[in-house]
Amino acid sequence: MPCSSLAEKKAAGANTLAARLARLGLHTDADFILHLPLRYEDETRITALRDARPGVAAQFEVEVIDSEIAYRPRRQLLARVADASGTLLLRFLNFYPSQQKALQIGARLRIFGELHEGYLGPEIIHPRFHVIGANESLPERLTPVYPTTAGLGQASLRRLISRALERADLSDTLPSEQRTRLHLPEFAAAIQRLHTPPPEMTQAVLESRDHPAWRRVQFDELLAQQLSLRRAYSARRARGAPPLVASATLTAALLASLPFRLTKAQQRAWSEIASDLAQPHPMQRLLQGDVGSGKTVVAALAMLQAVEAGYQTALMAPTEILAEQHYRKLAAWLEPLGLEVAWLTGSLKKREKEAVIAKVGAGETAIMVGTHALIEDKVEFARLGLAIIDEQHRFGVRQRLALKEKGQFAHQLAMSATPIPRTLAMSYYADLDVSTLDELPPGRSPVTTKLVSEARRDQIVARVHEACRGGGQAYWVCPLIEESETLQLKTAVETFERLTADLPDLRIGLVHGRLKTAEKAAVMAAFVANEIHLLVATTVIEVGVDVPNASLMVIEHAERFGLAQLHQLRGRVGRGTAQSVCILLYAQPLGELARARLKVIFESSDGFEIAREDLRLRGPGEFVGSRQSGLPLLRYADLEDTALVEQARAVAEDLLHNAPQAAAAHLQRWLGGREELLKA
Ligand code: ADP
Ligand code: MG
Repeated sequence: MPCSSLAEKKAAGANTLAARLARLGLHTDADFILHLPLRYEDETRITALRDARPGVAAQFEVEVIDSEIAYRPRRQLLARVADASGTLLLRFLNFYPSQQKALQIGARLRIFGELHEGYLGPEIIHPRFHVIGANESLPERLTPVYPTTAGLGQASLRRLISRALERADLSDTLPSEQRTRLHLPEFAAAIQRLHTPPPEMTQAVLESRDHPAWRRVQFDELLAQQLSLRRAYSARRARGAPPLVASATLTAALLASLPFRLTKAQQRAWSEIASDLAQPHPMQRLLQGDVGSGKTVVAALAMLQAVEAGYQTALMAPTEILAEQHYRKLAAWLEPLGLEVAWLTGSLKKREKEAVIAKVGAGETAIMVGTHALIEDKVEFARLGLAIIDEQHRFGVRQRLALKEKGQFAHQLAMSATPIPRTLAMSYYADLDVSTLDELPPGRSPVTTKLVSEARRDQIVARVHEACRGGGQAYWVCPLIEESETLQLKTAVETFERLTADLPDLRIGLVHGRLKTAEKAAVMAAFVANEIHLLVATTVIEVGVDVPNASLMVIEHAERFGLAQLHQLRGRVGRGTAQSVCILLYAQPLGELARARLKVIFESSDGFEIAREDLRLRGPGEFVGSRQSGLPLLRYADLEDTALVEQARAVAEDLLHNAPQAAAAHLQRWLGGREELLKA
């Protein structure tokens, strides 16, 4: 019983007005006034029926000349109406008795809608209408149409918004000298104008969003975003963290033992990180660099600085394959320096796991590598000084937060091969410091990309054969089946079987997400050792995998992959000195978006360029994965509006220093209590 009544209450709650408003994010007066129209309808004028054009919404003033309920082809209410210039049929497929009553012969109506040519002449299906008396005046302003949700009509929403407009504080949060300098209208004027535009403003101008009133709103939204991020940044600077002062013993030893010299870009990034780590407040830095730019060694140096200073450090990777690879690489680099590297993933045996966790807890292990098993509750570091997240964009926001909690007073380094376009870096990531590796290690030859139709698969198989017989190694990436993991697995196994049958004299391996860790590791190790010629793989090899002898990659059904994914996959080859080739097999017919993606990946190998195109093709919301990151999307402003983003950034800086109260009022207006979201 109590159960069902609770369920009932919940069901009822979901349907209250408050619940509907909450769905639209409408809580405070400020929320209502910032809930701006999608478009407008012009009810300030009456159009004669004779002048109505199909497909163009207009308002008519008419008299009902006939009204009946018809039963064919189904029950419906039909009303014939007329003005001095012509007649029109109104058709209601669903209707209330009250509507039928309102449409009695002789009633005068104002109706609004788009007419089309029906079987019985011009008609409108379900027009909006209301009965009018004699000499009823026309509204003086355009009628706003707001984004809404099921069960909440435009009329109620309009009423609520107009009440909020009367009540709310519309005073300007932007000092007038800034406003004048930026040629922006006052906030109150802009907001009033957008909610209740005077008729001389044409709909086209308003809806194009170039109007100064819209510019003001867009600017304000970006300003709120910038303020919030700047505040988060200062809050972080105000927290304490252990200064990890370099003694350059271990780092120097690693540098001396490497078979290569750091690139200029690596040196620069490393010195930025080294000086951050020595500060008494937590570093929060993003190391971004294209695939193969050599982020791992920079991470290793940072880890050593933490160890030198007497602290622990952890490196977390999004997949087991990658974590394992990092483990091997770090062990190979660091064990000769007398350091032990511990390893933790979800698939370790319970006893092994407990042993590692105990050592970490006791502070006996300084260096730890693993998957998200690292952030499980049970793992407690004795003295965590630096946490590093590789391929950070692959982690969900919850995992990132968990690591943050774990190393609450620790320095953080995130690494990503998906470079963030400038505008995004200035906005969504504005509370991070960024180091960029804009240079690849020397001696890499660029990867040649070929687009080949699926119809020529046989030729490609022959080419793989030839390359492997000649001592090379290759990847064959299976078609992506996003909808179903089971189907993905089936496809991978089929691809493997088909290639094994086609190429009986090659040693072929298969790696996919469902393999046990040990199995995955064994296949990867065999591939690294050149015991496998051809590795058939799903996107588990997408990030980080580094096998320099592999110089050929085939991606089947390349049209199904996203741009970032293709770029990452292609980055698996071109890591050695051999001329590398990436063949993108595609199936016809290609959709417009798929065609655009393939064109970009074919023409460019520059991760920044590709990220920029990705942003353009997908829009910024998708790009930052707003849904999973919990970041509120910009509703009105466009991140590609670089000039405006930059202005907002400068004004944010200025307000925080010179007008902190204005900054606080602005944040309150735009984000209310929701600022937390921005910090995740
Ligand atoms: P990513 O930035 O994609 O993570 P990695 O750190 O895996 O790149 O580095 C790619 C490869 O380049 C590795 O084999 C690494 O050892 C090698 N490498 C890194 N830095 C240099 C350098 N300065 N000179 C030559 N090779 C380098
Ligand atoms: Mg990497």
